[in-house]
Amino acid sequence: MTNGRVGVYPGTFDPVTNGHMDIIDRATRIVDQLVIGVAVNAGKGPLFSLDERVEMLEEEVSRLRNGDGTRIRVRPFSNLLMHFVEEVGATIILRGLRAVSDFEYEFQMAAMNTRLNNGVETVFLMASENHQFIASRFVKEVARLGGDIASFVPGSVKARTVRRLADPDAAGRTWD
Ligand code: ADP
Repeated sequence: MTNGRVGVYPGTFDPVTNGHMDIIDRATRIVDQLVIGVAVNAGKGPLFSLDERVEMLEEEVSRLRNGDGTRIRVRPFSNLLMHFVEEVGATIILRGLRAVSDFEYEFQMAAMNTRLNNGVETVFLMASENHQFIASRFVKEVARLGGDIASFVPGSVKARTVRRLADPDAAGRTWD
């Protein structure tokens, strides 16, 4: 049996938002196997440890109805994205595009990745209108200032975010 078309959706997912879930849902319509690559990204000083980010994604992915048979896996990675893509046998990198502000960074990254491996294509997806503006960074900021993040993240992610911000040292904040 072949693996079919394998795609990698890389990101920090600190934490996973409804915007990410929208992109994951769309990605499953394009690839036969989706590998969600969770980047260590210690430089970004994540609120959640790598393990926690993976765990939250796994929980949300398991809730997705997966009727079309696309297989979804969540995997952490700390090496070069293109090496990770090659390791899992993917030929597509999926990225979400929000506003124009994402474009320049994404454009450069896609061009660099094409140089590293011309056989891997980057595909950009847009979330639905009501999810497009959501960013993990702002979700954390709103929550930190006491705002309600219920419409931006899944319920269990909201609970974990609020808990973590109330007691940042509780879960042994790791910098991976
Ligand atoms: P990174 O650190 O790589 O930017 P993120 O977790 O912030 O990781 O995002 C992962 C990917 O998901 C990126 O391609 C980002 O543009 C995309 N993304 C995040 N939020 C949204 C959203 N609301 N709509 C569309 N794409 C999104």
